[in-house]
Amino acid sequence: MKREPRILSGIGVAPGIAIGPAFVIGTFGISVPEYSITAGQVADEITRFNHAAAQSRKQIKQLQNRAEALPAGAAEEISILLEAHHAMLSGSRLVRGVEALIKSSRINAEAAIERQITEIGANFASMGDSYLAARMADVREVGQRLLRNLLQQHYHPFAGAPAGSILISDEITPADTALMDPKKIAGFAAVLGGPEGHAAIMARALGLPAVLGVAALLQGVNPKDPIIIDGYRGEIIVYPNAVQLRAARQMLQKQTAERGKLRALKRLSATTRDQVTIDLHVNLELPRELDDALDAGAQGVGLLRTEFMFMNRADLPGEDEQYAALRQMIEGLNGKIMTVRTLDVGGEKLAGALAQLGAGSANPALGLRAIRLGLKMPELLETQLAAILRAAAYGPVRILIPMVSSVVQMQQVRHIMQQVAKRLQRKGVKLPPKLPPLGAMIEIPGAALAADALAQVSDFFAIGSNDLTQYTLAIDRGDEQVAELYNPMHPAVLRLMQFTIVAALRARIPVSACGELAGDTNYTALLVGLGLRELSMSPARLPRVKQKIRSLELASAIGLAEHVMTESDETQIIKLLKDASNAAPSARRHTH
Ligand code: PEP
Ligand code: MG
Repeated sequence: MKREPRILSGIGVAPGIAIGPAFVIGTFGISVPEYSITAGQVADEITRFNHAAAQSRKQIKQLQNRAEALPAGAAEEISILLEAHHAMLSGSRLVRGVEALIKSSRINAEAAIERQITEIGANFASMGDSYLAARMADVREVGQRLLRNLLQQHYHPFAGAPAGSILISDEITPADTALMDPKKIAGFAAVLGGPEGHAAIMARALGLPAVLGVAALLQGVNPKDPIIIDGYRGEIIVYPNAVQLRAARQMLQKQTAERGKLRALKRLSATTRDQVTIDLHVNLELPRELDDALDAGAQGVGLLRTEFMFMNRADLPGEDEQYAALRQMIEGLNGKIMTVRTLDVGGEKLAGALAQLGAGSANPALGLRAIRLGLKMPELLETQLAAILRAAAYGPVRILIPMVSSVVQMQQVRHIMQQVAKRLQRKGVKLPPKLPPLGAMIEIPGAALAADALAQVSDFFAIGSNDLTQYTLAIDRGDEQVAELYNPMHPAVLRLMQFTIVAALRARIPVSACGELAGDTNYTALLVGLGLRELSMSPARLPRVKQKIRSLELASAIGLAEHVMTESDETQIIKLLKDASNAAPSARRHTH
């Protein structure tokens, strides 16, 4: 049967085109672990199941909210379906049955869910009713959602995806993206998620085209449907026609040719036309990006997000394990600097064994996270600092502290670092001759406003514009519903950045920008004009930023920054920057 093409819109969060079959997460068999539990464990197991049910209900509510954005007919249909799913998760036959099985058969929640679903299925089938047979698909789907929530830490939802697949899901978590192999996965799309959430950042880092916030996704795409994903426009074309396919293939070719051109810049320095050199560093999410970073010609790592060590596992990594992973990366950098950020979990970034910790927070973005967690659980911070200090014996390292809000926090961390170093020295462990510089992320508005004081207790600053924007404007960076309001060019954010840069320059400490804006060529001239001489971004974006810098004049970048800082309207600022960017002379041909 010939199918008509359908276009579904969302937010393009990672540029690029991919063509491939859909791999819909949640519509295939999951291998379910089965084990016995003791009588004493029954209550805990039921609580674990109830948590998964509550989490599932919350997810369904979120999906319902998104579905409201659809045209009336579709919205109603989906709403009825989701309502039915929601009802199955409280006091239903499924829920009661699972609880009874955990109690009577003393088995784990996952096995009880599987058994209960089989039983309901057999029951429905024996009635020979087509309506009930259709409901069975819903029961299975709800069961799968429960299993996915229960198995979170050990479960690889797309292990079976054929090469070249485009992943389709209600939500792709940062932990999911950590498991994606760009050689196998061509791109992904999800109902939930905004442009600055971590799944989006990971997609850009991995060079995977991605579209998030596609409200009609799960109803519009079936497993194996042929799809074009267009990360530039934020569109998904299901069953594309010949014309659409041809256009997509041409775009793919252009993409490949441009990558080749940018590669030629690798050996050139990021120097403006009037000879000011900017240090270009990379942000790394995963060790396997190191090769890309070196390939892109980075001068070092400006931000290593260490969360990867804590993802997709139930336990915490020990000192030796963290040390080994860090040492390998530091050695891989061959003398280039490595900026290791201590663990930044909490908020949207929940990691396996630590997930429970933030869970109690009514408002996780403002709760126990990042360095607050490290100072509350000193053993967590000490273990990580010990691993970093040991690894620092093998190459230049800086240590970066996330979500700093006060001078006291920096003093406490420095004290802990010195104590850890003393302990290691006493044990005769190999350490670097000097302790690494200790820097503060400036990503909380209060920290930016106190930047002059923080500069007295910090060896360097890294401006985290992603969170700085989120907290200054009170916009959840990962929520597609308010994505339009998320704007790092808001004058309030820019003033906080300027204040931070001036404070750092006065105190003569280095300052960099490592949020997503550092990799956007529309902002390069402004950042340089504001005084930044170090930018850190995902490896894929570095060559373009270098090309941009090579086309700039410092004097005009400063003029542009001065002009921008007098503007009060962010749309005007963006227009100004775009105009200046387009008017800039093209990159030089000669090499240095
Ligand atoms: C930031 O907040 O800008 C930042 C670089 O850190 P992350 O995106 O990991 O929160
Ligand atoms: Mg941050």
